[in-house]
Amino acid sequence: MKIAFNQATTLASSTLEQDLILCEKHGYDFIEIRLDKLKEYLQTNTIDDLKDFFKNSKMKPLSLNAIEWFTFQNETTFALMKEDLRLLANVGQQIGCNTIVAVPSFEIGEKHWSEIKTETIRCLDELFQVVKDTPMRLALEFVGYPECSINTLNRAHEIINEMDNDRIGLVIDCFHLYAMNSNLDDLKKVDRDQIFLFHIDDCEDFVPGILRDQHRLFPGEGVIDLDKIISILNDKGFNGPASVELFRPAYWEMDPETCIRLSKEKTEGILKRIVSEGIS
Ligand code: ZN
Repeated sequence: MKIAFNQATTLASSTLEQDLILCEKHGYDFIEIRLDKLKEYLQTNTIDDLKDFFKNSKMKPLSLNAIEWFTFQNETTFALMKEDLRLLANVGQQIGCNTIVAVPSFEIGEKHWSEIKTETIRCLDELFQVVKDTPMRLALEFVGYPECSINTLNRAHEIINEMDNDRIGLVIDCFHLYAMNSNLDDLKKVDRDQIFLFHIDDCEDFVPGILRDQHRLFPGEGVIDLDKIISILNDKGFNGPASVELFRPAYWEMDPETCIRLSKEKTEGILKRIVSEGIS
């Protein structure tokens, strides 16, 4: 499986400019670019600079993330999200990246699933209309927090199935799968082509409902059964890339190069071990 780097891993310690150089140096195949880091980059660089970087690099852009909390918003906020989406779609088309992550809202109060589902489908469809005439795809990322409106795989999958649009798919993130106890049998039911991105990570030994992003750990250092998840993905013919995404503040205190190097080594270690043990 090829390896990607998600910029959340060096969120507070690096910039897009620096992540690009360091990830290329350490042999990543792909990078996932964050919207906030992109906006910061564009204050002193142009989209052409980014385009030139990828033209001359073996590393390629994997996704742009994210449009966050896109459901249950007022019109003004949603309109601003569409502006961000236009920016991402424009950048994506120029640098050769066709996947944008969309994260549903948190803390929506007591709402029945039927209402959440209707709202998520309506908003995803409205976002899709913005990028319809481009090659861009939208990847829905459920978040394994109790307060996220979609926090298990089966719910996210239900939405994608109902929308039945081959340009609207899923992000499968090992932490989010584990953090609200998603059923791994549900992962077996997801069609390979519905998986637009795969986030690899691990986490501390807290129970579902307690886990938060800061408990993420390097792959292999925590309690998530990564072997099982990867073996399910392999069985369906999904062959990556695996994108390492760690939001751990302690890792942001490392110098970014060490964090980027270790993230690659740990991810590679897990993937190689799984292949050599023939787990799948
Ligand atoms: Zn993720």
